Amino acid sequence: CGIVGILGAGPVADQIVEALKRLEYRGYDSAGIATLEDGALERRRAPGKLKNLEVRLSNQPLRGAIGIGHTRWATHGKPTETNAHPHATPRVAIVHNGIIENFRELRAELAAQGHDFATETDSEVVAHLVTAELDAGKAPAEAVAAALPRLHGAFALAFLFAGETDLLIGARRGAPLAMGYGDGEMYLGSDALALAPFTDEISYLDDGDWVVLTRQSVEFYDERNRRVSRPKQKSLASA
Ligand code: GLU
Repeated sequence: CGIVGILGAGPVADQIVEALKRLEYRGYDSAGIATLEDGALERRRAPGKLKNLEVRLSNQPLRGAIGIGHTRWATHGKPTETNAHPHATPRVAIVHNGIIENFRELRAELAAQGHDFATETDSEVVAHLVTAELDAGKAPAEAVAAALPRLHGAFALAFLFAGETDLLIGARRGAPLAMGYGDGEMYLGSDALALAPFTDEISYLDDGDWVVLTRQSVEFYDERNRRVSRPKQKSLASA
């Protein structure tokens, strides 16, 4: 029910948990984060309160300087560790708020191509769809641009790619998503409140937008993949 993404100057796991705490008011049943550890995707997930995720992280810390996090309000699949986000293939990890209405059709299509599904969620199909585009030779942003039009339903999404230590992609349609500007850092979050500990400079994505972030750059695209600009605003949310 809440999404966070951070391109950090140092390890981001603690910052992601801090931001997720600020999304607790939305309600959730499980939580998880993924970071890049030496370029490889690593996840920690736990059912129940964020405290459970924090315990998991203290036993098995993550050091990555880029990552995504999620609080889940289950719609498809029980609130178990397996069904908790992020969902991942070896190439991409995703967090998703909302519902992918056509996940059964997409899942059947991808399973027929040899993709193995590990969860009962609608969301996992997004990771496999983007992986199929990457496997076809597309770069990460092109892969996301090709995958988004195939999704029916409502979503806010954040994408983290194996081997891409300076790249996060976010997208929204029918669910909220904002990005924040830091000093050599960039952020994604469901709302400005989540990002308030880090920045008060925010841009909101319009419905249908997707955004490509590095630590030094922001590129917004609309639903038809046209480059657009979105105003930088002073957030009124307070840390
Ligand atoms: N539909 C997804 C799931 O059940 C995402 C739910 C959410 O918005 O947290 O896992």
